[in-house]
Amino acid sequence: MPECEICGKKVDTVYEIVLDGAQMLVCEKDAKGRDVVNAFGPDAGSGRARRPVSEEPTQEELVEGYGEVIRKSREAMGLPVRVLAERINEKESTLTRIEKQETLPSEKTRKKLEKELGIKLLNKEPEEKRFVQSGKNEPPTLWDMAKKDEKHGE
Ligand SMILES: [Zn+2]
Repeated sequence: MPECEICGKKVDTVYEIVLDGAQMLVCEKDAKGRDVVNAFGPDAGSGRARRPVSEEPTQEELVEGYGEVIRKSREAMGLPVRVLAERINEKESTLTRIEKQETLPSEKTRKKLEKELGIKLLNKEPEEKRFVQSGKNEPPTLWDMAKKDEKHGE
């Protein structure tokens, strides 16, 4: 039975990893988070390298092109960067950098931007859990809105 070259544990499945430029055969636990080039043994799946799960939070949660989403919404509202920056209590230069995607907005800034511009900057859709149970909650049609407008305009 092969042994892990890091912890010495005898294992059925060994993972070939590259550590500081050197190849090593290690157990599954020690292979986690490293560059696995190969895997041998009964648990090695189809015999191909198993990819370690990398954990990269925050960045991926933002929608693609968040800078443009912010900029377009801001321009649609006719707000200069300076004014929006003031509203969300942020520096004009920081906001400019966020729009250029040179920097990520902090959670606080992101929430303020979302509120101020009425946009969503995260990929996660919390509304997904909402179930539509009947057709009663349909949004008003243009016709409905037109009728409403008529009444209002009298
Ligand atoms: Zn080990």
